[in-house]
Parts: sequence; structure tokens; C-alpha cells
Amino acid sequence: MNLIAGDWLAGESEIENRNPSDLSDLIGVYAQASRDQLEATLDQARQAQREWAAYGLERKQAVLMSIGNELMARAEELGTLLSREEGKPFAEGKGEVYRAGQFFTYYAAECLRQIGENADSVRPDIEVDVRREPIGVVAVISPWNFPTATASWKIAPALCYGNAVVWKPANMTPASACALTEIIARQDIPKGLFSLVMGSGSNIGQRLVESPKIDAISFTGSVPVGKGIAASAIQNFTKVQMEMGSKNALAVMEDADLDLAVTLALGGAFGGTGQKCTASSRLVVHEAIHDAFVEKLVAGAKAMKVGHALEEGMQMGPVVSAQQLEENLAYVELGKSEGAELACGGERLALAHEGYYMSPGVFLNTRNDMRINREEMFAPLTSVIKVAGYDEALSVVNDTAFGLTSGIVTKSLAKATHFRRNVRTGVVTVNLPTAGTDYHVPFGGRGDSSYGPREQGWAAAEFYTTVKTAYISAGPV
Ligand code: NAP
Ligand code: MG
Repeated sequence: MNLIAGDWLAGESEIENRNPSDLSDLIGVYAQASRDQLEATLDQARQAQREWAAYGLERKQAVLMSIGNELMARAEELGTLLSREEGKPFAEGKGEVYRAGQFFTYYAAECLRQIGENADSVRPDIEVDVRREPIGVVAVISPWNFPTATASWKIAPALCYGNAVVWKPANMTPASACALTEIIARQDIPKGLFSLVMGSGSNIGQRLVESPKIDAISFTGSVPVGKGIAASAIQNFTKVQMEMGSKNALAVMEDADLDLAVTLALGGAFGGTGQKCTASSRLVVHEAIHDAFVEKLVAGAKAMKVGHALEEGMQMGPVVSAQQLEENLAYVELGKSEGAELACGGERLALAHEGYYMSPGVFLNTRNDMRINREEMFAPLTSVIKVAGYDEALSVVNDTAFGLTSGIVTKSLAKATHFRRNVRTGVVTVNLPTAGTDYHVPFGGRGDSSYGPREQGWAAAEFYTTVKTAYISAGPV
């Protein structure tokens, strides 16, 4: 059911949600909201937002704290559900739900840290007071790959800064969306402050982003959908924030600790079945360490345990859907046709349970101008690009339309520092994976990876609030 104007309502139709690790496991059927329901909940959200903004700070804080604490306390249960519907191994599912809770507890604290600025006017005896106010009704549109965490890093700051939220989750992961909504709906919030409107992106999602009844859109998803949303938003001058695709590179220098480099590459490339916006899909490797690195990388990829996300000891689950699997296998063929050498994996796997399984694939002898190195595949596939030195490595890393994350593995302070300062990405890591970020600091990218203000940490205030500058003259005493 959807949460419409504060009530749980059936939709105009339903979709089936199946476990990608085991297609015989039907998780449930989920309601698709109607356009009338969307309109109704948008109207109620406007009213509820005013009430919520008028709540005292501690009352708002208590709501966010309660949501966060419940998510953390139920991380095992809700992580199991998440892994069951999305296909990431249980440890990753549980970790994601726990992290989602931390977004709420972080922003619970931020409720009390909304402190403005003041100044003297350039005119005598006049004071200036600058404060942030809520932006209003925020549309949150989230992807399936981090169904609970991505939504939470948008919903938590939206509520913290006094806004109403209308959430359109990805249709691929409705169970996690319902679970989070159920927790939020039970809190001390005005009726209709928070809505869940499930439905397809092209129908209910499109209607939502075109609506003049919203004030802002926070979107995470693919570049083509993001471009469409931006075009819709501009019609109403709706504020937008978008996190989209990427083609992250990990540079491995000749002085790198070999085992560390291989561990970072394997985790970065195949964690979440490679379906992470922060995945290491290009491994840019110095020729002096190339052969040794590749040998260990391929051995590591071959040794990975692929299987049912909820089975003990699995390191990689299935991909999310039949369509995603088909696209991934097409990229494997494309890579080969472009002249890349497939050293291992990249094959569909038939396991005990029928699911969307494929083996982690490593391409060798690739060039950065190949399509497999330019397009986001969102697959458990990674490419090795051999380079002659640091300068070439940096230029290959930067030669992309995207710019979300990048990493360097080196013992050289000089190279690490130069890389950190000259790489054109929103996030950069040194001797750490390209995936895996904190919640209390900004997150976002450059180029085609991001548009609009940063998410997370204190940076989120920029998007979820609007600034008001007040001039005050006290008048004669
Ligand atoms: P997607 O196809 O762009 O969908 C993202 C969300 O937008 C879904 O909820 C989708 O709904 C909805 N949507 C689709 N068309 C829409 C429209 N016309 N109007 C409004 N909403 C619409 O992306 P995805 O396949 O779910 O996720 C994979 C992508 O997300 C990858 O490109 C990945 O890089 C990106 N991603 C980025 C980050 C980041 O922080 N940079 C994090 C995670 C993922 P339905 O799916 O229900 O149709
Ligand atoms: Mg999609």
C-alpha cells in the first residue's frame, strides 16, 4: 500500500516483487499509486509542511532520532528483507540499513544546529539577520541499488530542515520502501507530511517531477532520466539536486602495496555486484606492477563466492533483474568485440536457485577510449588500463564524462597529494576503495555525475533550505 495524505491506501494496480537470488520466492505484490492519489497527497503535504515547520526543534529532533534508532535496532531484520529483494549479500544489506539509521541520528542532531548569521547593515543603526527556512515540499526519487540508504540520506535532511517529503522509490525495491515508510508513518508527525507514492518512473515519477506543487526534487539515478527530470523541473523553476552515473577509476602506482591494491580493486569492483555509483570500473595500473597485480586480481575474482544473497559466506549476489543481466552480458560481448581480453568471468551462472547470477569479470589490455571504459555498465565487470607512469595515470583517470569518485594506491606522499588536488571528481580516496563514504561530510560528483548542491553532512542544508535576509531597524529609543 502507499501512504497517501497520511493514510495507507491500495493503488490502481499492483506489481510483483521477486527475489533475484531465487525467482520462485515471491516477496509480495505492491500497490501502484494513481495520479489522483499523487495530487491528493501533494495538496496535503503543503498543509502538513507548515505544521511541521512550526514544531519545536526538540520535537523534530525526537522524531528523527526515533526513526534512526529503530532502523539501527532492526538492521538485521530489514537488512534481510533488503538483501532478499535487491540481491546484495546479507552483510551489505544489514550494513545499509544500519547506515540509513545513522543518517537519521546525524540529522536529528542537526535539528539543533540550525544557526544563522548576523551582520551590521552598511546603513547605520540597521541590523541584518540571515537565516535558513524550509524549501517546502520535496520530491525524493531514489534508485534500487541502495534502496534504504539513498532514500534516507535525502529524507532525513529534508525533514530535519522542516520540509514535507513525497517519496517515489524505485519500483524494483518496494519492500524496503514500505518498511522505511512504516517506521516514519508511526512517528509524531503531521498527517501527510511524508508520502510514499510507488509507481513506475515514466508514469507517477514523471507526473511528480512535472508538478507545480513541489518546490524541490532530489534525484539519484541514471544520466538520461536525470536529464529528463531537469528539463521538467525548469518549467516550474523547481530546485533540483541530482546524483547520477559514473565511471570511477582506481589508480595503482608502482610503489603500491600489492595485496592492499588487489583487495581495494576487488571490493570496489564487485561489492554490491558492481551495481554502485562508486564502483571501481576502471583500474589504471602502472606497467611496473601490472603483471603481478593482474595475476592476483584475476585469481581473486575467480575465487569469489557467488550465490544466494542470504546464504552464509557469499561474497557476491545476483544482479538485480533479467534486464540488467542481459545488458551486462551484452557489455561482455561488446568488450570482446572492441579488442579487450576477458581474463575471467562475465558469464551467466546456473546455480542451485534460479536467479540472475553472473561471474565477476575482468577485462585486460583495454584502452580508455573503448566503450566499456566510457559508459557506466553498472555490472560486476572491471577493466584494467595499463599506463607508463603517474602523469598518464592521472590523465586517464580524468578522461571521462563523469566525476564521482576516484582513488590512488601509493606509498608516495607526493603522488597522493598531487592526485588528491588534481583529480576531477567530487570524492577522492587514498589507499582506500573508491566505494564507501561517510554520512557526516559532503557527497557528490562533477561532470555528468552530479548536478546541483551536494548531499549529506552539513552540505545538505544548501539544498533543503532557502536563505532569508532580514533588515531590522529598532527605531528611536
Ligand atoms: P533510473 O532508471 O534513473 O531510476 C532512478 C529512479 O528514477 C527510479 O525511482 C525510477 O523509477 C525513477 N524514474 C525513472 N524515470 C523517471 C521519470 N521520467 N521521472 C521521474 N522519475 C523517474 O536509475 P536506476 O536504474 O534505478 O539506478 C541505477 C542508476 O543510479 C545508475 O546510473 C547509478 O549510477 C545511479 N546511482 C547513482 C548514485 C549516486 O549517488 N551518484 C547512487 C546510486 C545509484 P522506476 O525505477 O520505478 O522506473
Ligand atoms: Mg532503471
